[in-house]
Amino acid sequence: MTFSQSTKRELCRIEPESVCCYLAELSGIICAAGSVIFRGRGEKRLSIETENNALAQRCIRLLKEVFDVSPALATLRHARLGGKNTYRLTLDGEEAEFILNGCGIDMSRRSVPRDVTARKCCRKSFLRGVFLASGSITDPDKEYHLEMVLNDEGFAEALLRFMNKFELSVHKTERRGLVLIYLKGKESITDMLSIMGAQRARFSMDESIIKKELRNQANRAVNCDSANVQRTLNASEKQREAIQRFMDEHGKEALPPELQEAAALRLQYPELSLEELGELCDPKIGKSGMYHRLKRIEKLMQPG
Ligand SMILES: [Zn+2]
Repeated sequence: MTFSQSTKRELCRIEPESVCCYLAELSGIICAAGSVIFRGRGEKRLSIETENNALAQRCIRLLKEVFDVSPALATLRHARLGGKNTYRLTLDGEEAEFILNGCGIDMSRRSVPRDVTARKCCRKSFLRGVFLASGSITDPDKEYHLEMVLNDEGFAEALLRFMNKFELSVHKTERRGLVLIYLKGKESITDMLSIMGAQRARFSMDESIIKKELRNQANRAVNCDSANVQRTLNASEKQREAIQRFMDEHGKEALPPELQEAAALRLQYPELSLEELGELCDPKIGKSGMYHRLKRIEKLMQPG
């Protein structure tokens, strides 16, 4: 199951805080996934389509609880889309009218219904409905991305303003004639999960963020180590050059014994740090002792 599917499954199991929230969630679902067609004699047919069976069942339940109506349910099979099902709920005539009015939706001028979202609890439920009907979220192990795909520009605009009030960082774009409302950035996405009531999804996203940060820290440490190694090698090269020049010009014997030892070790082990070279001396010396010996050789080669 994808992260998106498990998030939606969790959302479909939420018991709304109170009846007002049942209505708000239903309104969100219809705003995002509902459409109206006119049949003969001006009669309306409201249909709600989703590929998510759990959402279809939830929608049926909400319609029953709030309006005491039962929609017709049809399952459409798409051979083209790898045999994916679409569930279509339909309500005709007066019932369609009744539901749309009750949900505060004017299909000819779609927006976020004001009355239905007057309370804070209901605003959260409305957002949950919209996400369930049109949204998806990318696995946070891969990328931080949450989006809702809508077919109505007016509603998308209104939703953007509505979501901005939650202080989410919301963006809008278009894709193949559809409008995309999306969130980028882990804070906005975890906030949105909390607002909708998907606590488990939120926790697992938090966990994934922490894991990723630990991994990045470890990578930084490794990079830092390799920078140190590079510094050691650069310094070593300079020292070896000085030693070689000194020996070419004056011969090894011109160095005092302790410098001869240091020079020989440096030439033999170019990759070792000063500390490690000091360990090889007889008797052992510390890092700074080794540093001073090699510095003395470098100094001997400096003019003046
Ligand atoms: Zn409410």
